[in-house]
Amino acid sequence: MVGLANPDKRLISLAQGDPTVFGHLLPPGSAVEEVSSAFGAYTYNGYTASAGAPSARAAVAARYSVPDRPALNVDDVFMTVGCSEALSHAIAALAIDKANVLLPRPGFPLYETLCNRHGVEYKFYDLDGDNGWEIDLEHVERLRDEDTVAIIVNNPSNPCGAVYSEQHLRAICATCEALRLPIIADEVYEDVAFDVDRPFIPVASFSGRVPVMSVSALSKRWLAPGWRVGWLVMHDYNRILATAGVQLAINNLCQVSLGPPTPIQAAIPGIFEADEGEWLEGTLEVLRKASSSCLERCARVRGLSVPSEPQGAMYVLVRMQADAFGGDDETFTDVEFAKRLLAEESVLVLPGTCFHAPGYLRIVITVPEDELEEAWNRLEVFCERHSRERKLTDSPKELHVLNGKVEAALKIVDSDKKLFAE
Ligand SMILES: *Cc1c(COP(=O)(O)O)cnc(C)c1O
Repeated sequence: MVGLANPDKRLISLAQGDPTVFGHLLPPGSAVEEVSSAFGAYTYNGYTASAGAPSARAAVAARYSVPDRPALNVDDVFMTVGCSEALSHAIAALAIDKANVLLPRPGFPLYETLCNRHGVEYKFYDLDGDNGWEIDLEHVERLRDEDTVAIIVNNPSNPCGAVYSEQHLRAICATCEALRLPIIADEVYEDVAFDVDRPFIPVASFSGRVPVMSVSALSKRWLAPGWRVGWLVMHDYNRILATAGVQLAINNLCQVSLGPPTPIQAAIPGIFEADEGEWLEGTLEVLRKASSSCLERCARVRGLSVPSEPQGAMYVLVRMQADAFGGDDETFTDVEFAKRLLAEESVLVLPGTCFHAPGYLRIVITVPEDELEEAWNRLEVFCERHSRERKLTDSPKELHVLNGKVEAALKIVDSDKKLFAE
């Protein structure tokens, strides 16, 4: 979609949503050991139950049980091929005639793909970029109609990097309760929260009578997207979904792919029990640093800003000031900006348009420090080159350029002096 890179410059991708591509972020060693020993045992080479191995389902049920709520059991859990299949099952199970689902904007494009695949209509509710990308709940109220079967809530969020506060999660649940609106909670970035004062909290903690289907996977929190193991958890304490046949439908849908790989399911209890706090803190520290270096660099580039700093997940959503970049009589859209950046500087970022956020750029922060530094150097040069208001500034960068000029002038004076001396 974005085109070709400059053949004379090494490509740096700030676009891929796979945290493992650079090799500096790896799954916990304990998880790798659990999986290796499952393979080594030679007893997990066959099929297991389509809805998931009982030991894996039990481990998920225990991990995701919510305080002050009945404990989850094996039947509330379905093991899936990544979080993607869990989302697919959740949407497909609600796909009655004329059904529509409310999706976040900006949001993860897979939601639409899955709705289209299952013949479910969708409408977008807005997230507020100037307010931590919180959900515009009045917009949700206006959008909900008699065919609305669910709302997808993504927290921590891709591409926004938001981590919702307890207060906002309670407000979301209150709105959904008033609207009788089940929640599909995409919590695949669980625990990927940078600030100890703003931890990840599952939305099911405050859901009251609202049924919640929460989905997650080993993909992001455990940095192993290639292992393709995820799960769907039904927080259906009033048996609203079960009565409507949703649980049965999901159970039937699990018979299609026959579930994720058996050896990795076998490793799940061990992966959850492992003491990997230090590993998680190390991962978060890398992401925190990358996030703040992006914020720092972005602050120095005229025309770019970050309206709400990332609080978690693996992305920074950067806002392009309207009319800031382009030529004499054209301004760049986010798509043009991304195309040109790739063609000229071989830096790949995704235009916000991919996430229904025109005028934004998504930058991944799962990139090593030196690569990120180099990418921002190129971004800065690019933005300078295409700035439409280059002259009107007193930014430190301009000072730098000015200093360069002063230095050059001094050199000329110097060489003049030499000339005269000779
Ligand atoms: C990566 C991602 C997924 C998909 O996860 P898989 O487990 O790889 O299928 C789902 N939702 C969001 C928001 C993601 O970023």
